[in-house]
Amino acid sequence: MPAGKKTRKSPGKAASEDLNLLHIVQSQFDRAAALLDHDPGVLQQIRVCNNTYAFSFPVKVGKGVRIYRGYRAEHSHHRKPLKGGIRYAPQVAADEVGALASLMSYKCAIVNVPFGGSKGGVCIDPRETDEEVLEAVTRRYTFELCHKNFIGPGVNVPAPDVGTGEREMSWIVDTYQAIHPTEIDSFACVTGKPVTQGGIRGRKEATGRGVFYGIREAVTNDLSVKKLGLEPGLEGKTFVIQGFGNVGYWASKIMVAEGGARLVGIGEWDGAIQDPAGLDPDAVFEYRMKKGTIRGFPGAKTSARGSDCLSWKCDILIPAALENQIHAGNVHRLKCRILAEAANGPTTPRAEAELRKMGIVIIPDVYLNAGGVTVSYFEWLKNISHVRFGRMANRFEAQRERRTIAAIERITGASFDPEDVATLTSGAREEDLVVSGLEGTMVDAYQEVLEALLARKPRSKDLRLGCYLVAIEKIAASYESLGIWP
Ligand code: NAD
Repeated sequence: MPAGKKTRKSPGKAASEDLNLLHIVQSQFDRAAALLDHDPGVLQQIRVCNNTYAFSFPVKVGKGVRIYRGYRAEHSHHRKPLKGGIRYAPQVAADEVGALASLMSYKCAIVNVPFGGSKGGVCIDPRETDEEVLEAVTRRYTFELCHKNFIGPGVNVPAPDVGTGEREMSWIVDTYQAIHPTEIDSFACVTGKPVTQGGIRGRKEATGRGVFYGIREAVTNDLSVKKLGLEPGLEGKTFVIQGFGNVGYWASKIMVAEGGARLVGIGEWDGAIQDPAGLDPDAVFEYRMKKGTIRGFPGAKTSARGSDCLSWKCDILIPAALENQIHAGNVHRLKCRILAEAANGPTTPRAEAELRKMGIVIIPDVYLNAGGVTVSYFEWLKNISHVRFGRMANRFEAQRERRTIAAIERITGASFDPEDVATLTSGAREEDLVVSGLEGTMVDAYQEVLEALLARKPRSKDLRLGCYLVAIEKIAASYESLGIWP
């Protein structure tokens, strides 16, 4: 989590719009469900959030006691455990976690991760709270979840979200283990942990890396993008990012380093910076660590309003902060060709309808930010199998490659370049396997969504619709095959 992060609402919302995220997610669901032939009861079961635990708990702060409000929503139990992040922000509410939990169920189905969806949060501003208080709040929140069976390796497995990261996840696992000292799979009670605490290499950057793969798929293989007049491929494409936290930073870094794209603007809650020649994500990160803000970054033009970045000209705009950032009141200012939703729920339905008229392609949140839960699934598998990925096969693979190379050299009389030998004989490490598993997952899921759209008559290019069609079909199939208890 980069320094200086804060959670603030952008100004200028269209007052008449319904900005309730639960209503928005349910309206997206309804649009797809209306096209499918399933029992209305089954569809309703997939639409609603099964249960939400809302609770208050006391924590000692200084010489007094403060009461905090916590939530954990469980959307669907068609697969277990349930999975979803924990958000620390002042405006966390029951509807918000319910909506985010629903998105988690659909997301998991789209990327073939066998979990139901959940989400939690605490009404707290982590920036304004001392570390000891944050630790006490996290530990007490975990205790409350244990108490009601809302956490556990086979029940419900949290992860980071806005305002939380590895540090909070390590407090959670430590608290859970203190309460369940004999549980052998206890490390699997939460993901996004530091590697030293049962985490997996590649989790921290997973959501941002998944965003990169999703965008790369769209600009490389999707015909609808060619119709925008863009050359296929990411190389040289310009992009602007809103929110330079975990997802925003890693997505920017990988888009530049591996995709060859150019980062021309960054928006934060307290200002935005722009440089058409291209910003270096690591240099901005370092600067923010030192100064606590991105404002005044050398060589870039600073705008006082963070939301200005939304109207900067670019090929790809990536909202990676909070929900409802693109709404009826500002949608006409957008000058991008592709809107890549790294954040959950950044676009309101009215804005989305306008974007379609403006010919802007949306790569939807419910697919695009699924890299985090995908690698969380790998971490959970590592924890319940008690072995690091690659440990058994690494040396065997390396030795076999060495023998193959030796045999080729013997037969041909030629010699391999030593650098090539080193690459070919390195054997797959945990991070290689995580990256490969994540890339395969994002590519396959994109193709599945496209196929679902192509199979429809009339054909549609609406990727969000395709995502919901895929998700509903899979979840409905699991309910229908399981049977519903009398
Ligand atoms: P984070 O807390 O690490 O970062 C959020 C960033 O947005 C911070 O830098 C913050 O200062 C900035 N921000 C807050 N309000 C803003 C505003 N009004 N304008 C511009 N910037 C603002 O959170 P994150 O984990 O990066 O999550 C970002 C989004 O991605 C959220 O919507 C979250 O639900 C979603 N997401 C996160 C993950 C994950 O693995 N962390 C997975 C899936 C989806």
